Amino acid sequence: MSDYIRQNFIDFAYLIAVMGFVLSLKWMTNAATARRGIFAGEIGFAIAIIATLLDPAITSTGWFLIIVALALGTLIGIPMGLRVPMTAMPERIALSHAFGALAAGLVGLGHYFLNYHHIGKFAIAVLGVEITLGCLVFTGSLMASGKLHEMLPQRPIVFQGQNYLNFSVLGVAIIIIGVLTFNPTQVWLVPVLVVLGLLFGVLLIVPIGGADMPTVIALLNSYAGLSASALGFVLGNKLLIVAGALDGTSGLILAIIMCRAMNRSFRNVLFGAFGQLEEGVAEGGEAGNVRSASTDEAAEIMKTARSVVIVPGYGMAVAQAQHKVRELADALEKEGVEVRYAIHPVAGRMPGHMNVLLAEANVSYEKLLDMDEINSDFPQVDVVLVLGANDVVNPAARHEKSSPIYGMPILNVDQAQCVMVVKRSMRAGFAGIENELFFNPKTLMVFGDAKAVVSELAIEVSGQRDAISL
Ligand code: NDP
Repeated sequence: MSDYIRQNFIDFAYLIAVMGFVLSLKWMTNAATARRGIFAGEIGFAIAIIATLLDPAITSTGWFLIIVALALGTLIGIPMGLRVPMTAMPERIALSHAFGALAAGLVGLGHYFLNYHHIGKFAIAVLGVEITLGCLVFTGSLMASGKLHEMLPQRPIVFQGQNYLNFSVLGVAIIIIGVLTFNPTQVWLVPVLVVLGLLFGVLLIVPIGGADMPTVIALLNSYAGLSASALGFVLGNKLLIVAGALDGTSGLILAIIMCRAMNRSFRNVLFGAFGQLEEGVAEGGEAGNVRSASTDEAAEIMKTARSVVIVPGYGMAVAQAQHKVRELADALEKEGVEVRYAIHPVAGRMPGHMNVLLAEANVSYEKLLDMDEINSDFPQVDVVLVLGANDVVNPAARHEKSSPIYGMPILNVDQAQCVMVVKRSMRAGFAGIENELFFNPKTLMVFGDAKAVVSELAIEVSGQRDAISL
């Protein structure tokens, strides 16, 4: 194949791959088409990899090392992908960002050391930005993963002069990129840039509390995309430019959407100091008496309700109770009860976590209502079943200024006529604070594992227990 034909073939394949990525993003915006979206993205990536392997720059050096790396990556990646539980997905995604960014940073470094004698000013400047972004996303994502995995303390660490330190590190990195742009042979500056990038990634995550981590992961994803796009400019690879830009912008949009959902300032997320707490963090509202109910009592109340709203949270995911939830909803609907689901944007441990689980149990999408759609309805709802959710229904977010979740919009379940909370104990949720909802006179606690409790409720509501005892 002549070089001309081969290059045209590669460009055409890249175009098809990019179409796959764009369609993938489009389809993934809707739960009904999300699976198709993943498939389109996978096909796009397969085409992109095959086309890249045909690039003369690669065929001239041989595929041996690439095949070894591919085999090693596959050997490690497949078991990781198969074994990771849904609940640990965010930290797994953060790890993927970390290694993707490390790869981008290393490619950038390799390109610099091989070419700095004859590289143009623009390319050096872009390379500097790319290496810094790659390094900061690497350590930032490792820190985010560690915090989510609870290997690192989840509480924000805030100290005097933190923003000055962050800006100084960033400022020195920018000055170094400027110096390298005009004098690329100052090779010793590159390791300094690497260290500053790695340090900035750590400093960016240190002041952020675990509850705000989803937003930061979306933002790190965006930085990783920008880094890949910058690398595309340096290597003259059109696919990297477009794919990186798609990743960068979609990550940024997701981060902005999540900031809105959690009522956080996007500017503060960008500069990494938005997890700060005011002095003297309170551990929650006033404790009082808790009323608890058995599953028989809870089932009786639900059966007589006109409308029930189920609020799933992280506990439903842990217990894998989604199929039993569906059975309970079916049983209630048979009794003439209207059943809907209220979905908080950060319920669970990843965006869309609850939607994915309920879709797995074939709950129809029309019954899943976003926070904005359902919040004004709660005063007319007879029974709310809070299933393993905690932070996303904690009224302290509305008024407790010292709370780490202060300002985050919540599901207004306390406005319903009766609230039933299913969880195993009085333990706190992700943000580590007490929930005043549990002490509300309208609230009944039904203690137990979500799956076990919901399956008991389904049996009680459908009357199967009575049938068995007869
Ligand atoms: P929370 O983490 O606030 O609370 C979950 C509750 O589930 C716990 O209080 C726990 O209580 C209960 N639980 C755990 N296991 C079970 C079980 N087997 N059966 C019954 N209950 C169980 O969850 P929410 O969904 O309300 O809130 C999500 C939190 O996670 C927010 O703070 C959010 O910011 C954060 N976050 C969200 C991410 C996202 O993208 N969605 C990513 C990272 C963090 P007990 O132990 O007593 O049973």
